[in-house]
Amino acid sequence: MLPRPLDILAIAAHRDDVEQTCGGTLLKMAQRGHRTGILDLTQGEMGTRGTAEERAREADRAARILEVCWRQALDIPDGRVENTWENRLKVARVIREQRPRVVILPYWQGRHPDHYTASTLGYEACFLAGLAKLDTGASPLPDADVLPRAGNPQDVPPDPAVTPHRPFKIAYATLYYDVRPTFVVDITEQFETRLQSLLAYKSQFTDQEAGKDDFPAQAEIRARIEAMARFYGMLAGVTYAEPFLQKEVGLVEDLTLIPVKSI
Ligand SMILES: [Zn+2]
Repeated sequence: MLPRPLDILAIAAHRDDVEQTCGGTLLKMAQRGHRTGILDLTQGEMGTRGTAEERAREADRAARILEVCWRQALDIPDGRVENTWENRLKVARVIREQRPRVVILPYWQGRHPDHYTASTLGYEACFLAGLAKLDTGASPLPDADVLPRAGNPQDVPPDPAVTPHRPFKIAYATLYYDVRPTFVVDITEQFETRLQSLLAYKSQFTDQEAGKDDFPAQAEIRARIEAMARFYGMLAGVTYAEPFLQKEVGLVEDLTLIPVKSI
């Protein structure tokens, strides 16, 4: 069986970035019946706390909490996410295999170089994945029937590993950067579970001695996450929300149905 395409794929530099920036949205989309996925570019081997193996187990747990269908971490070095041809091909391969309609990328400005580089790298990979003549070096899936058969060539199912695909929509998760979002997603119902997905990274967020100056205590983490979610919720008149930015303008069919009160 060929894998079913994802509806939404969130791409981020580090395991736990997605949980912090758009985890509530992914959970909400899964609850609405969409197939969601997470691609982490690195495995977290440079982190002050925990090993890459520990973080892999925690990432699995977090993915289950957020009800995502698919999660993978690439082998790009942690702390050295670079927008190279090789890395773009790695991400383009995933885009072709998973065929998402929507891709969520980190916003293109920020404090951590891995975050803003992941944004450009992800965008360029989405573009490349749609180029008909681009060979990403992906081998055809073993169970994909790519050999031309006698008879009607339309009978041959396309092999997703090598068939070009470009997502329809790219949304940028802006939570890490102080920029006004173009839309927010109401995560009031998902807020608690999304917080649990972040706390599943016990190696990072359990109170401990290592990195105590860089990592806030757990009570403080909860307070900060709640404050951010409330702030973005308030902008749209809901309790909790996650912020996004799209480069395109919004398209409206009926003025009477535009949400968010003006006055
Ligand atoms: Zn990060």
